[in-house]
Amino acid sequence: MKQITIGSATAKPGAIVKGQLKTGDFPDGRPVEIPVVIAQGTGDGPTLWLHGCVHGNEYCGTFIIHELLRTLDPAQLAGTVVALPILNINAFRRMQRMSPFEGYGGGDLNRCFPGDPNGSLTQQMAHAIYANLKQHADALVDFHTAMTPDVRWALYADAPGDVGKQSEGIARAFGYNSTLPAPMDILAGSAMMTAAKDGIPAYIVEAGGKGAGFDRATVEDGCERLRNVMRHLGMLHGAVTDHGPLTYFSNFAWVMSTRGGLFQRAVRCGDRLQEGTVLGQYYDLYGNPDGEAISPHAGVVLAIHAGPLMANGETLVHIGLDPRSV
Ligand SMILES: [Zn+2]
Repeated sequence: MKQITIGSATAKPGAIVKGQLKTGDFPDGRPVEIPVVIAQGTGDGPTLWLHGCVHGNEYCGTFIIHELLRTLDPAQLAGTVVALPILNINAFRRMQRMSPFEGYGGGDLNRCFPGDPNGSLTQQMAHAIYANLKQHADALVDFHTAMTPDVRWALYADAPGDVGKQSEGIARAFGYNSTLPAPMDILAGSAMMTAAKDGIPAYIVEAGGKGAGFDRATVEDGCERLRNVMRHLGMLHGAVTDHGPLTYFSNFAWVMSTRGGLFQRAVRCGDRLQEGTVLGQYYDLYGNPDGEAISPHAGVVLAIHAGPLMANGETLVHIGLDPRSV
């Protein structure tokens, strides 16, 4: 079996071990440590790397990973699951997307990979994590959320050759219908793109909404889809569920709000849009209708602002472009 040590956790065949990885220091000198769980089977197989809360307020994936670990029997496992359910613990503690410690650099961990041992706190954190990922991972599944509980979409690294093919295999086994074969020139600094460029098949799940915007059903469904990925990779016994054709996109568009106001959305994630489709309704402070938000693109809703208050410059809608069934 593979010898794997990450921080204070050392894999043991047939066991689930827990530990911590130090990724830096707080300003009071205490260590920044993130939780690491390694579940190793008794038979050979790949090492599947799972992580959540790269963005600190995207908890649904953390709960999916926790659910998998609670229900995983290492005696039935081939290969190894390495799980880091809470990656950006600095942001997580503040219940916000980004680290509170970078006044200038932004602190978005998912733009910092592969990291820099001499960079900002978040860049050093990325370096400490990614050195382990690069050394051990045979595949990466990275969990995120968007804005509302009905979010269900995914991206895989559309890398040349086998890396892209294996990434697509993971996408089909997870089987979220809205899927972007992500062009390799977007999302620079994300764990997914960095891993794929290093030859590691990689996939991002966008499940549920940030903060409290997700439910138990999404967690259980996501966990079962993750088990299906593990069956596809030969890590668990059982037939692989075929999710059928998926809807692929050429790319996505983020549309930002250019106005403020009270806002209620009129579409749900997965809905088809035409150019000109009404996305939502604005109201003034007296409750009077005060204009509609209009889609500038045709496509599929990947995510939409949850409301009820909109400010200029917030993400109004996230649209998958040029949908096709594949
Ligand atoms: Zn995210």
